[in-house]
Amino acid sequence: MADNVANVAIVGGGLAGLAAARTLHKSGVKCIVFEASDSLGGRVRSEKIDGVTVDHGLQTFNSWYPAVKEILQPGEYAALGIRYFQPAIQTLTDDGLALICDPIRAPHLIPKLMRSKARSALSFRDLLALRRWLKSELSHRSSLELRSIKQKYIDEDVKTCESLDQRGVHRRTRTVAIDPLLCAFLFDAENESSAIFAKWMVATMLRGNLAVLENGMGELSAALARVPGSEFRMNSPVTALEEEGDGVRVTVNEAETEYFSHVIVAVDPRRESELLGSPEVPTTSVSSWWFISDEPVMEEGLLTVDGTRSTPITSATEVTAAAPSYAPGKHLVAANHVHPRGSNPADGPSVAEAQRGLGSLFGVNSSGWELVKEQKFIDAIPLILPQSLQRIGKEIGERELQGGRIALAGAQHATPSIDGVLRSGQRAANYVIAQLEL
Ligand SMILES: Cc1cc2nc3c(=O)[nH]c(=O)nc-3n(C[C@H](O)[C@H](O)[C@H](O)COP(=O)(O)OP(=O)(O)OC[C@H]3O[C@@H](n4cnc5c(N)ncnc54)[C@H](O)[C@@H]3O)c2cc1C
Repeated sequence: MADNVANVAIVGGGLAGLAAARTLHKSGVKCIVFEASDSLGGRVRSEKIDGVTVDHGLQTFNSWYPAVKEILQPGEYAALGIRYFQPAIQTLTDDGLALICDPIRAPHLIPKLMRSKARSALSFRDLLALRRWLKSELSHRSSLELRSIKQKYIDEDVKTCESLDQRGVHRRTRTVAIDPLLCAFLFDAENESSAIFAKWMVATMLRGNLAVLENGMGELSAALARVPGSEFRMNSPVTALEEEGDGVRVTVNEAETEYFSHVIVAVDPRRESELLGSPEVPTTSVSSWWFISDEPVMEEGLLTVDGTRSTPITSATEVTAAAPSYAPGKHLVAANHVHPRGSNPADGPSVAEAQRGLGSLFGVNSSGWELVKEQKFIDAIPLILPQSLQRIGKEIGERELQGGRIALAGAQHATPSIDGVLRSGQRAANYVIAQLEL
């Protein structure tokens, strides 16, 4: 290939596309990233509203995520400004907020644990059942990204709710702690996601700590986008892709065309379907709210879920308790509501309902809070149902299309997490690098 000139195009400047650009750069391959919107980062972006940092929904970073550490240089990783939440979760019970934590990992929380209503939420018998449920993940460590799982396990995979039933995880532990927690992290209101995926998700929480980034989660995208030699073209939606001869014709804005030897498509499932006719993927929608409170709502940063289901809140926290820089001198509360599958987000909870719900969740008067932003994300997250795992497990992520010049990446080709999408971008880029025979 002559001088490694930019003969690879990446469609989509979200985390998957940026990870692909970085991986190509490491092998000396230049690329052009076409991004439809006016900024990079896709679903991991931050904005400033009157001095307050607002992310794309309440999102958390997990200190375990290995792909982030692999793709960023150590100095870049350190500069992310990771601000940790406590290694614990709060859940609302009929008796008040209950703290759930592993006292060995968080000995400083033991006094708080003893004072909390945790004992009313968890029973020893249920915890043993939960240990049995998680055992397969803990013993065979399915894989970093659910790809090298034995076919036998994939064939036996069932919905999370069925798998918990089979292992005897019911009663209060299930309703007050496990179900709301899984809903918050799997973005699945029905808990019908793959049990293997659910166990993987719980294991990631046990392996790492949840955090946000000092200057907003968008800082991760900004760090990844520092790829020397790559060209980023904003406001450039790719409207058609066609294999022609020894390359791929890329049409931008339904007008200009350019030829590339290979193309990496790293867009959301709906756009991928429109561009390439890929099969539809089940997704879930999310509403998020950002409020300023005059008073703190918690002493330490704790992710909070609603074990009573009496509020519309799926997960919430005071972000400033972990990262005061989000709203200096103020208290910023962020919350997500995961919509039932197939429902219209427009019919979901109103701002007033969310505000009241957050007051009940934290046991505070929220009537004077100020709304910073309401967000509605349609098709926010691809769901990993048991049958999707068959797809993710079998596909190698760089599914070849028409001669193998187009590689696919994005949340629908991995676990729909920050770690998963980075891996998908890496994988697609490595495929292209191998094709270029560098
Ligand atoms: C509300 C919410 C909360 C989340 N919480 C967490 C969390 O706590 N932890 C976690 O790990 N993950 C979380 N995620 C998941 C994670 O953010 C996503 O999986 C990930 O960002 C998806 O990255 P991507 O690159 O696959 O897609 P995207 O981020 O969607 O990027 C695709 C890019 O392609 C561009 N594009 C689309 N069509 C075209 C086109 N035709 N031409 C050019 N460009 C195009 C888009 O504008 C976009 O920039 C959350 C996601 C949401 C929405």
